[in-house]
Amino acid sequence: MKYIGAHVSAAGGVDQAVQRAVAIGANAFALFTKNQRQWQAKPLDDPTIEAFRSACRRHGFGPGQILPHDSYLINLGHPEAEGLAKSRAAFLVEIQRCEQLGIDLLNFHPGSHLRKIGESECLSRIAESINEALTHTRGVTAVIENTAGQGSNLGWRFEHLAEIIERVDDKARVGVCLDTCHAFAAGYDLRSAPATTAMLDEFDAVVGMEYLKGMHLNDAKSELGSRVDRHHSLGQGNIGLECFTTLMRDPRTDGIPLVLETIEPAIWAEEIAWLRAQQETP
Ligand SMILES: [Zn+2]
Ligand SMILES: [Zn+2]
Repeated sequence: MKYIGAHVSAAGGVDQAVQRAVAIGANAFALFTKNQRQWQAKPLDDPTIEAFRSACRRHGFGPGQILPHDSYLINLGHPEAEGLAKSRAAFLVEIQRCEQLGIDLLNFHPGSHLRKIGESECLSRIAESINEALTHTRGVTAVIENTAGQGSNLGWRFEHLAEIIERVDDKARVGVCLDTCHAFAAGYDLRSAPATTAMLDEFDAVVGMEYLKGMHLNDAKSELGSRVDRHHSLGQGNIGLECFTTLMRDPRTDGIPLVLETIEPAIWAEEIAWLRAQQETP
């Protein structure tokens, strides 16, 4: 079974995200459970939690079909003590919100060294941040997203993801979300069926397919290996449609949320329908 959806708005309350997912024919979705550009959020109240849980039940969204994204401000590999502590505290709140909403996964960008510490030191800080958050929570899996490698962001090479996972104590609660635009910008070619299959094979070899907990399906305005993160609608960027057809026919993407973060929400319904139709070999 393929779970296909988009990163929908949670304006008006997290339960509204469920309605927006239903409206575009999605059977998976992503959301921010709080404002992604602010540190603080007002705690979730019981009516909101109940509205979200009952909307998910009513529309058949299981915990594994929902892939929330944390705040953009959080840097779990922050080189300075104060920034690191602030990020870790905010990350814990993000996981706790998932617990409250009955969501099993939390997707986040690993972190940046800001050119003040080395790569390896930054990766071990990220792993330590994950360990700390997992110790204080239950049930939620920390899902590391591969990045485009813009600026000093780590996690653009599969080896970075493997190194973080290696240092996480509870391997059952850590995973990866693969973003196609980010992988392409990081230098993984996706412009053909064989290239797309080879990327998944390489992920399996370096990280392990058992860690794949979700994907972001985006075409790219940016060039292969450019390390620039610019999403595009499916088939309109430098990746092209063949990649997405290939992913829809690969059993390795079964049973995990496959989420569009493409740039034109008005055509998400169409993109989802197109992705679903790719599953049948002509
Ligand atoms: Zn993404
Ligand atoms: Zn991106």
